[in-house]
Amino acid sequence: MRLREERGEAELAIALRDYVGRETPLYFAERLTNYYKNENGEGPDIYLKREDLNHCGAHKMNNAIAQAMIAKRMDRQRVVAATGAGQHGVATAAACAKLSLDCTIFMGSEDMEKQASNVFLIKLLGAQVTKVEGSFKDASSEAIRQWVNDLEVSYYLTGTVVGPHPCPSMVREFQSIIGRETRRQAMERWGGRPDVVVACIGSGSNALGIFHEFVGDEGVRLVGVEAAGFGLDSGRHAATLATGHVGVYHGAMSYLLQDQEGQVLGAHSVGVGLQYPGVGPELSFLKDTGRAEFHTVTDEEALNAYQLLSRLEGIIPAMEAAHALAYLEKLCPTLPDSTKVVVNCSGRGDKDAPLFFQHRPALDA
Ligand SMILES: *Cc1c(COP(=O)(O)O)cnc(C)c1O
Repeated sequence: MRLREERGEAELAIALRDYVGRETPLYFAERLTNYYKNENGEGPDIYLKREDLNHCGAHKMNNAIAQAMIAKRMDRQRVVAATGAGQHGVATAAACAKLSLDCTIFMGSEDMEKQASNVFLIKLLGAQVTKVEGSFKDASSEAIRQWVNDLEVSYYLTGTVVGPHPCPSMVREFQSIIGRETRRQAMERWGGRPDVVVACIGSGSNALGIFHEFVGDEGVRLVGVEAAGFGLDSGRHAATLATGHVGVYHGAMSYLLQDQEGQVLGAHSVGVGLQYPGVGPELSFLKDTGRAEFHTVTDEEALNAYQLLSRLEGIIPAMEAAHALAYLEKLCPTLPDSTKVVVNCSGRGDKDAPLFFQHRPALDA
């Protein structure tokens, strides 16, 4: 058993290095740092954890490849997963191709229309796409139902830190490599820890992935940024921790966007990967204990940050990650000179360029 475990860890380490492309750089964003300096030339030093450089363009692969290996070891021939924006579906289909596993991705009919290019990528990678009437929550419920009917053969591959135990802990474990690398890289760079770590929150896997390593370091501020969409008062947002109430959803208790009767509400954000009405139970706990702080930015602020990073650093961030970057606008003026800020750049944003120009047609000249 011991030997088998060690072999498994070695196999995962090789895949993370040669397939996923880890470790990802901790990049000093010099022009962004200068942009946020005050009139006295003072301001925080801003670093980006480059999860956008992972295979398939986001942090999702860290988890997908590891869980696909577990499925293989458990002798499950069939992997089922649900995807909303399609990023998790693509990562899972790719990992299953590599490991020769049958893969079925459940997707809501509404999302399939909006994310047609990801549907093509999933099919190209050899997976089947099963259409479920509705949106992501309907697709998740259907994927879980299929899995439970077929436990001997199927493995349900969760994309994020939600769902029944042990899904949230398992995904957090596989994503926590982001924070472990960040600690080591910070030590090499400036001989210390980050002072502030910032991440966007959809359901919480990239945030917990970078936070987890630092939860015990009281001096490290953990800042989560949720999507305020059209504004918190508009009712069209995805700010679960900021405005939600405790509920039970997909097998776990956490904050949840719900109406007076406890019906789950739809979530909106220009960052399609942030459109989830729930949030991981462990992040809910970090809110309740006060160990992490949570803020929101609107669609407009995220679109500005998307353009700003593209123009200043030549890095196009995922619209989801642009939410974390947008919060720098409020955060930076409050920080002492040379504060070390690490922003988790959770993914790359080529996929969002058409969406950007839908919102900012004047720039398309
Ligand atoms: C899916 C996704 C997110 C949101 O999911 P979390 O579980 O909250 O990390 C954020 N950024 C990118 C690039 C994504 O693909």
